[in-house]
Order: sequence, then structure tokens, then C-alpha cells
Amino acid sequence: MKGLMMDFHLTVPVILRRAETLCANKTIVTRLPDKSIHRYTYREMATRSKQLSAALKKLGVSEGDRVATLCWNHYQHLEIYFAVPGIGAVLHTLNLRLSPDDLTYIVNHAEDKVIIVDQVLLPLFDKFKDRIKVSHVVVIENGTGPIPAGYTGYESLLSSGDASTFTPFSGDENTAAAMCYTSGTTGQPKGVLYSHRSIVLHSMLSAFTDGMAIGEADVVLPVVPMFHVNAWGLPFTCTMLGCTQVFPGPHLDPASLLELYETEKVTLTAGVPTIWMGILNVLDANPGKYNLSSIRCMLVGGSAAPRSMIVGYQERHNLRILHAWGMTETSPLGSICGLTAELRKAAPEVQYTYRAKQGVAAPLVEMRARNENGIVPWDGTTMGELEVRGPWISSAYYNTPDDEGKFTADGWFRTGDIVTLEANGYIEIKDRSKDVIKSGGEWISSVQLEGALMGHPAVAEAAVFAIPSEKWMERPMAAIVLKEGKSVTVEELNTFLEPHFAKFWLPEAYETVKEIPKTSVGKFKKSTLREMFRNYKA
Ligand code: ADP
Repeated sequence: MKGLMMDFHLTVPVILRRAETLCANKTIVTRLPDKSIHRYTYREMATRSKQLSAALKKLGVSEGDRVATLCWNHYQHLEIYFAVPGIGAVLHTLNLRLSPDDLTYIVNHAEDKVIIVDQVLLPLFDKFKDRIKVSHVVVIENGTGPIPAGYTGYESLLSSGDASTFTPFSGDENTAAAMCYTSGTTGQPKGVLYSHRSIVLHSMLSAFTDGMAIGEADVVLPVVPMFHVNAWGLPFTCTMLGCTQVFPGPHLDPASLLELYETEKVTLTAGVPTIWMGILNVLDANPGKYNLSSIRCMLVGGSAAPRSMIVGYQERHNLRILHAWGMTETSPLGSICGLTAELRKAAPEVQYTYRAKQGVAAPLVEMRARNENGIVPWDGTTMGELEVRGPWISSAYYNTPDDEGKFTADGWFRTGDIVTLEANGYIEIKDRSKDVIKSGGEWISSVQLEGALMGHPAVAEAAVFAIPSEKWMERPMAAIVLKEGKSVTVEELNTFLEPHFAKFWLPEAYETVKEIPKTSVGKFKKSTLREMFRNYKA
């Protein structure tokens, strides 16, 4: 028997319609390139977004066409987030930290029709503009002078559209709405295509109470860029709920962020561990300088949050770090690390240990792990490659015929992450399969060693990677960035690690470096480290 509920499609315009109807007077705040603050309401945002939809249609953009953005986090980007899916076209956010060669490859692979670029990013755009074929370049002006001839100004494009005549997309919810390429940490960038349905479901579920518990009263500042997995979906989630949204523009240094947290009374913020490490150092060095009492949650993901960082925020600054795991291919929310009722009764030490794990699968996401012996038991010790499935998990890559073996025959996505699963469902990411160190037939988790080393009082950052060894095949080596004015010996580091690890896990060598090479989304670039120390024989 068929159910008798409406066949109401889950589409992005439904999100915008709700914000416009119920939260029209709530605000969206942006720090502009000149550091001044721009403020307007959801009413204005929705009107301008629909104007842009109409204007893009006039420009010749039709359903399925890709519209790329090369932009920081700001209100115009939010308008584009809704305007492009609003006409059934595909929002394609470009990572402005990629090389011009990668950007050329991605724009050409996606066959973008229009590209919208921040005026402040034109120097980057100039480096690849002659190698791409787009029919229109739109520039978001920042008032620093005229835009180059041949380009269309964002404001003049907008004023060519009539919001009142525009009918938003209301077709099949499985239509593509947004596109994001993986940042290529492990190979050629690959295109992930989000559907209207996956975006709406992800928006609903990422707000759930056992996760971020986001509501209308929240003031949300995503430090995570809008080009990195749609700022983890936050612009969609927050618009659905009518939260106040605060966008930091290009100013992502700790002092600028801390000032915005304080003046805008931010309640929830999100970013990768390197951002939070930088902010923690500033807070530690300036006790009492910032009043961050409004913040109730700092979401961290993208790479493992060291336990010492979680403890540092909580104990020294009364700030709660919430750890989550995800990927471009998973929209990104896969798991989130709230504490179960049982763990809330546990000793603080136990709670911290759990909070440094990646948590349990979000509702509607299913997980399992597999090694050479098959599906691994949920025993907290057996490692295997994590596989996931769910309504916002990719089923294939855009225009990549062999899909690089990432999808199993029975419909799961192979993440490439090595994990353990506990009986209570908590997962712990031990490594990426390409980074795990294979020493004499055993696996050593670089992530665990890094997390521990970053707990040493002299260490600001530590990255662990494999170096070749004739006897053991591979051995771990650690690159260390020291905190200002600190020094440490190899013996001291080994003594610090010894109580927590088997002896063969201890790094074969340590090297002090000025900074750890990072990827375009702020993760440790292990491939560069392996290359740097390629001839270092253990
Ligand atoms: P890229 O694949 O190019 O690095 P993604 O942002 O999609 O870009 O990265 C996803 C990967 O980031 C995951 O497969 C995992 O290895 C890592 N990751 C994400 N969140 C966490 C986390 N909380 N702890 C450890 N690793 C994480």
C-alpha cells in the first residue's frame, strides 16, 4: 500500500522561502575586505538572491549549468548559494587556496559556464583565466576601483534581474544543486555533486540536538570557508533555521576572529584544528583580554583535534570544542562527538578521551569498517577502512568513469580512513590509508602520535609520517614546530610518549621545522614531508 503523504520535494528554494517568511528581520553580518562591517536582513538577502537568479537566467544560465564562485565567506556568496540552485543550476565553489593549475583543471573538468570572482581575488584569477573557457566573468566589487573591461559587475548584474517575475526551481529533489571538488590531498581532485534533497536532509540533521543543536537563537560564524564542502553546510542549515550569520570575509587571523566573536556575540563557530590551535595560543598569551562567554560550541573537523587542545580550551577558557568527522564526499557530516548519557557520568579524563575521538554516526548515516579479513568487529582495537552510506553520501564522482574503486558493489563509499569502532559506536580515525605507517607488518597511527606530541608543553605542532626502512619497510618520523622560546630533547619527547605507546611506535627520528607544510584546507601535507625526508634512512 502506498503512503498518502504529499510528494513534496526537498529543494533549496524551500529553505530560502522559510527564512524569508519567518525570519525576515534577522541579520546577516559580513566583515568586508576593508574591515568595515556590512549588515542586512534575510529579507534583503532573499530579494537580492532572487534578483540574481533572474539575472543569471537572462544571462543564459539554464538548469544543470555550472556557476562557479571564487569567493571568501560573505553575504554575496550566501546570495549566490541560493540564487544558483534556485534556477536548477549547479553552484560550484572553487577553493581559492589551490594552485592555478589545479583551478584550471577543475573549472575545465566541471565545464563551468559562469564564474563569479571577488575583486580582491582577481590577481589569482589572472593566473588561470586564459586557460579556461567560461562565457561570463562576474566580479564582486569591493570599491577599490573599476573592474577590468569585459567583466560584468555583480551589482549591475543583480540590478538587471527582477525578483518579482522569478519562479524558483521546484523540480525533482534529486537534481544536482551544488558541486565541490575534493582538495586533492590524495590524488587528482574529483567532483562531488550534492542534490537538493541531500542538502535539505543534511541541513536538518546537522542541526540535531545530539550534534550541534543549532537553533534560531544561534549566532553562527563559519571560519571554515564556503568553498570547503559548503562551509560544512552551515549557510544552508543556518538559513533554514533563521540564525544570525556572521561571515569573516578574508580576515581569518586569530585577532580578527576573536574580535568578531566578542562584538557579534557569536554562539557557534566552526573550523579546522589549525585555526583553533592559533586561537588557543592567542588566548593563552592574553588571559582575560577577550570575553567569549557567548560561545557555546566550537566545531572542529577536517583533521583530528588533539586531546590537549580540547582540554586546553575547556580547562583554561571554559570553551567547548565539539569534534566531528566528515569528507567532501559526505556533505560533510558523517559522525559527531557528543557524549552519551553514560559517558556524561564518567570521570573528566574518560570524557576527554572520548571527546578526542570522532564520535558516533549521525542519524541516517551508517558505518562499517573492513580489513583484509572482512568486516571488522566493533571492539575498539581492530583497525579497518571505514565505509559509509546514507542519504548525503556520494554514490559516484562527476564524470569519473572508473570512480577509482571508491564505491563497493553493495553500495557503500570507501572513505580511505583507517578506524577502530567501539561497541558503543564511537569511531576513532587512526589514519588515512595513505598515511598509516607500516612498520614490520604492524600499523602505526600517525594521527595518534601527533595528537600526543602536541600535548607536550614545548610543542606547537607535530606531524608524523613514514620514512623508508630496509629492515621494517617504514618507520615513523616526526616534524616538530616548537613553541616560541621553548626547546626539547629527543629523550624528553620519547619519555613523554613512552607511557602511552608500544616501544616500536616511538618515532625513529625528530626534526625541528619552522612550519608544517599544509594543504589548501589547512591539513598537514604528509606527502611533502615524506618527499622532504625521503633520503632519511631509518
Ligand atoms: P581532502 O580529502 O582533500 O583532504 P576533505 O575535506 O574531504 O578533503 O577531507 C576528508 C578527510 O579529512 C577525511 O577522509 C579524514 O581523513 C580527514 N578528517 C576529517 N575530519 C576528521 C577528524 N575529525 N579527525 C581526523 N581526520 C578527519
